[in-house]
Amino acid sequence: MLNLLDLIFPKRCLTCWRFGKYFCDRCASTIRTIGTSETICPICERPAIGGITHPRCQSNYSLDGLTSIFRYDGIIKKAVKSLKYRRVTDLAREFMALIPPSFSSEVTKLRTNEAFLIPIPLHISRLRDRGFNQAEVLGRLLVDRLQIPIRMDILKRVKKTTPQVEMKDRKERLQNMKDVFSMNHLAIQPSSHIILFDDVFTTGATMMVAGETLKRAGARFVWAVTMAR
Ligand SMILES: [Zn+2]
Ligand SMILES: [Zn+2]
Repeated sequence: MLNLLDLIFPKRCLTCWRFGKYFCDRCASTIRTIGTSETICPICERPAIGGITHPRCQSNYSLDGLTSIFRYDGIIKKAVKSLKYRRVTDLAREFMALIPPSFSSEVTKLRTNEAFLIPIPLHISRLRDRGFNQAEVLGRLLVDRLQIPIRMDILKRVKKTTPQVEMKDRKERLQNMKDVFSMNHLAIQPSSHIILFDDVFTTGATMMVAGETLKRAGARFVWAVTMAR
């Protein structure tokens, strides 16, 4: 915990501890984005062009695709972890500034006038423990950049879950996620284009189930976006 407190002031690089920024120039130059040849289908997690869900993986309630920006390793992994345990707005801002300009244009292609972003919610008890939802903190910065609204009133997390990493297989993970989310049905239009946003894509079960909940409520198009994978 002390290390994290030290991060607040003075500002130091998350990896090499150099003073000045959370991502010093040298460490920032090692960051790898997910290339066009590395995109995957959010359902089967196998390679898929543009991150578009394979036709064979599509169902009425599946996510339409996935865009993850950075590889989840090195300084990116440290940033994601730091943001989970402490609200460090400066760190979130620096993190956001690392996103290449091409990202906005990629997401702009998806959007319509109806588009908005929903960060994956935390369960209320976890939110109370932490005091903030890191996906929301990052999401608010991202919508500034994308110039679309953020909606916190649509998706609620109504069940507490065991962390996904402790689960053995996919079936168990999906079972764990059953009925995790509830929806404010009135808030959703059939034409809604939703960007479902989270800090990191790990097993995909959370995104899959949240996407399904939104689609069952009538959302036509749900695209998952994560900072890292
Ligand atoms: Zn550094
Ligand atoms: Zn697939």
